[in-house]
Amino acid sequence: MRPTDPITALRGVGAQRAKWFAQLDIRTVWDLLRHYPRQYADWSQTVPIMQAPLDTPCCVRGTVLSDPAERRIRAGMVLYTFPVSDGESCMQVTLFNNRFLAARIRAGREYLFYGPVKRDFFRAEMSSPQIAEVGRAHIRPVYRQTQGLTSVMIESAVETALRETAGQLTDPLPPGIRQQYKLCGREYALHHIHFPADPAALQIARRRLVFEELFFLQLGMLYMRRRSRDTAGAVITQDRSEEFFARLPFTPTGAQRRAVADCMADLAGGIAMNRLIQGDVGSGKTAVAAAVADSVCRAGYQAALMVPTEILARQHYTDLSALLAGSGVTVELLVSSMKAADKRRVREQTADGTVQLLIGTQALLSEQLQFNRLALVITDEQHRFGVGQRAGLSGKGNCPHVMVMSATPIPRTLALMIYGDLDLSVLDELPPGRRKVATYAVGSDKRMRAWKYIRKHVDAGLQAYVVCPLVEDEEGESSLSSATAYVKELTDALPGVPVGLLHGRMKAAEKERVMADFVAGRLAVLVSTVVIEVGVNVPNAALMLIENAERFGLAQLHQLRGRVGRGRAASTCILISDAQGEEAKRRLQVMCQTNDGFRIADEDLKLRGPGDFFGNRQHGLPALRIADLAADMPMLQQARQAAEDLFRAGAQDDGQKEALLREVRLLFADTPMN
Ligand code: ADP
Ligand code: MG
Repeated sequence: MRPTDPITALRGVGAQRAKWFAQLDIRTVWDLLRHYPRQYADWSQTVPIMQAPLDTPCCVRGTVLSDPAERRIRAGMVLYTFPVSDGESCMQVTLFNNRFLAARIRAGREYLFYGPVKRDFFRAEMSSPQIAEVGRAHIRPVYRQTQGLTSVMIESAVETALRETAGQLTDPLPPGIRQQYKLCGREYALHHIHFPADPAALQIARRRLVFEELFFLQLGMLYMRRRSRDTAGAVITQDRSEEFFARLPFTPTGAQRRAVADCMADLAGGIAMNRLIQGDVGSGKTAVAAAVADSVCRAGYQAALMVPTEILARQHYTDLSALLAGSGVTVELLVSSMKAADKRRVREQTADGTVQLLIGTQALLSEQLQFNRLALVITDEQHRFGVGQRAGLSGKGNCPHVMVMSATPIPRTLALMIYGDLDLSVLDELPPGRRKVATYAVGSDKRMRAWKYIRKHVDAGLQAYVVCPLVEDEEGESSLSSATAYVKELTDALPGVPVGLLHGRMKAAEKERVMADFVAGRLAVLVSTVVIEVGVNVPNAALMLIENAERFGLAQLHQLRGRVGRGRAASTCILISDAQGEEAKRRLQVMCQTNDGFRIADEDLKLRGPGDFFGNRQHGLPALRIADLAADMPMLQQARQAAEDLFRAGAQDDGQKEALLREVRLLFADTPMN
């Protein structure tokens, strides 16, 4: 049997089971072998019934005292019960509807029972345990299961698959790398990840598979990077950035200059640019984008800027129009809520080249949109877009230059590994005169004082944000944490102060209206859920109040706080929380101590691991089956090194190269790339 065979090639897997397996994305024998156990049941360590941990699965070795008694409790439901003794104490074992298993249990024989033991003062009980002969004491896999497929069924299919493919699994890792990093072979690894002989074998197997996954991830990025290196981009040699800078109402920071210079060098180099501009909130990424777009447009090409939300698109449209007003570059907006006639006009003018810089949301990916001479694609807040979407927009031009802007402060080493296909410019300097946002963490007993502080700001002509984590009342939630109720209370407490509400369930047009009112100053206070998280720029807002601050991750709190401290007024952030947990307290403490996004990112990494940045696959990387970017960081570094060495050495023989590429394609299979 070959690993590429469909799952139905396995004995015992018919059409129906194949369907269930498909729900787990398992279609081939190989998919099955890579369905790694979620955890393990250690049948090799047995515990006495009296010492069984509560509600935690464990293994009990015991003798069945009498044959299972059958009891029909209602139609279609039969219970089998029998007592089991470990020599000191007894427990009752219950099986539901499992006649097949019950029929094999014999009084007087000893078995292993695996499951959680329930215990009260009088007796102990195990319901629906897994049962095995005493000889089969080992570590057993526990799989993610699905409707129709239990872990045990998956286990037996994996067992068959391993047996049937024995000797046919080629190892795609070059022997040299296996030797250098002391990795076991693939067949051994697969065998012991599913059926570990002992904990040490499991470690060895896991290490190899994690390495393999990260290695191919890195190798894939290197291939992508080389492909982009091989792609010619429009050559733009005339660097107009000095003229652009001269027209700005402020002096660009050194970091902004460096980032622009990096981009200009890319544009002049003849190879398509693929650059990540990473800068903390407020570091001035928009001006960098404008400077680069300016040179591109004035060279006779078009540029496009894609952002994740309409609010942001409009914001950028306003900002960039202002920044580029002196250059004579035609800037247009294209978002789905625009009138059909306007959209048509913008599309036509984009197609004929009148529009030089087009700003929009995913609408820019629409088939109907044609560019004339698209040479630069900018995406902002990249963690919201996948690799595929980026590629989608690139597909519209003739290999346009790609610039990705991200405010997610990732430590540089990690960024290099995660965005290995991109070059990196870091905006590590904030514009001068930017004052720290003074940050305080207080209990909810100080809420009234915080509200009075809002009033003070409003009286001084400033604006304020209030962030609430919830939208509507949910059972058990205090009504105050619900944004809707909150607005009412706040309005009552601050008569005469115009308060607006923005939340995720509002229609796009409504959101736009509220946001526009806030930008224009018609609303003094904006109560919002996290929709304001990314990118919004209202310099007159100098106060931010965050309710239930413990519910946000550090990175998110930092993004939120970045909405203030953008104007001339000293800005304040008040974190309201009654949380007592150590980790939550630590997070709030970090926020009070520093405004430095990179330090916060480091702390976050320490506290929670990269899950917060990379959760929900927002990064657009392929899903990893076994590696954990937090726990396996050191391994990621090794794998990166190995991939680079191999890549640099080049010229493997064709067979090996094909094998490597196949692995890369498998890993990136669900990540659309063009
Ligand atoms: P972000 O990197 O978060 O996108 P923005 O581009 O929105 O930051 O810039 C934040 C604010 O800082 C804007 O109001 C912008 O006009 C201003 N700004 C940008 N660069 C400078 C600079 N070099 N000096 C002063 N202000 C700047
Ligand atoms: Mg921005």
